[in-house]
Amino acid sequence: MKSMKPLKQLKLSVPAQETPITNFLTASGTFQDGDLMLNQKGLRLISEENDAMTPSDKNVIDFQLEDLETIKVIGKGGGGVVQLVRHKWVGTLFALKVIQMNIQEEIRKQIVQELKINQASQCSHVVVCYHSFYHNGAISLVFEYMDRGSLADVIRQVKTILEPYLAVVCKQVLQGLVYLHNERHVIHRDIKPSNLLVNHKGEVKITDFGVSAMLASSMGQRNTFVGTYNYMSPERISGSTYDYKSDIWSLGLVILECAIGRFPYIQSEEQLGAPSFYELLEAIVRSPVPSAPADQFSPEFCSFVSSCIQKDPVDRSSAVDLLDHPFIKKFEDKDIDLAILVECLDAPVNFPK
Ligand code: ATP
Ligand code: MG
Repeated sequence: MKSMKPLKQLKLSVPAQETPITNFLTASGTFQDGDLMLNQKGLRLISEENDAMTPSDKNVIDFQLEDLETIKVIGKGGGGVVQLVRHKWVGTLFALKVIQMNIQEEIRKQIVQELKINQASQCSHVVVCYHSFYHNGAISLVFEYMDRGSLADVIRQVKTILEPYLAVVCKQVLQGLVYLHNERHVIHRDIKPSNLLVNHKGEVKITDFGVSAMLASSMGQRNTFVGTYNYMSPERISGSTYDYKSDIWSLGLVILECAIGRFPYIQSEEQLGAPSFYELLEAIVRSPVPSAPADQFSPEFCSFVSSCIQKDPVDRSSAVDLLDHPFIKKFEDKDIDLAILVECLDAPVNFPK
């Protein structure tokens, strides 16, 4: 008979009053602090080998990298690969992003530390980063899986998105931005179609918050921006100081692109190849700003786009103000269900029951 392990001494540490308890809660409603795990099934002690967790325990989601199995690669960005993974015991799907970082170990550790703080996202319009690991010179991030991919995937399939749906997308992105700007006091810096993710419920969430900011601020990466310059505001692409309004410019361009079916600085689909950095810089800083054609779009939509795409950040509206814009208000009580739009899209994988 297997001998019983001696019970460990319980060190019960209670979070201080001012710390919101939700900081320690996993998505499954589990409170975990060291060896102590508390969920709706009660209080339990977990040994270092996690042997208290069994496959049948659906309420506990604990992350060790080795507990995740790869289903397939779902995307590749400049910074790394994104895989669809499944928790072997619980069956939950996640998106695992692995970023190889060619920087000093100390900085990598700092980044993971900061990401851990960011894990406590409390906004339903920001993709949850459940866990981050630093392993073998790479940083692995376990994200909430958004099963309809990104807005880039959506427009690749549907070409253009109609105004009522765009208003619903915009509202959710703005709610995410209000959270990032006003509560977390961070600039996203990389708002673009591939960082706005969609799920089968029609929810739109901002991702890569923190990642781009941290990559940008980590010493080794300061001059090596890996993403696209397409959505960068004039002040940012020209190297001036920038603030939250830089994200608003990017949102305006993204929404206009979704409406007209092409990146607004490209005149036609026939224009071959992506513009070079210098062509973009020239266009964004010197050319007149792009706008929605008044003969094809409602005055509210044209005004919304123009409230975002202004060269001088002072002239751009804030995320809070834009939530009250007539374009957003116009469709608010119309019960527009984005789930209907994404229903017809190719689902990367069936959502588990
Ligand atoms: P870049 O690296 O230039 O910023 P990117 O945003 O496309 O570009 P990644 O962030 O690595 O690069 O994402 C690649 C793709 O993976 C995205 O376009 C999206 O389709 C998919 N993806 C990323 N995160 C998730 C997620 N949480 N759920 C589902 N799909 C995701
Ligand atoms: Mg991304």
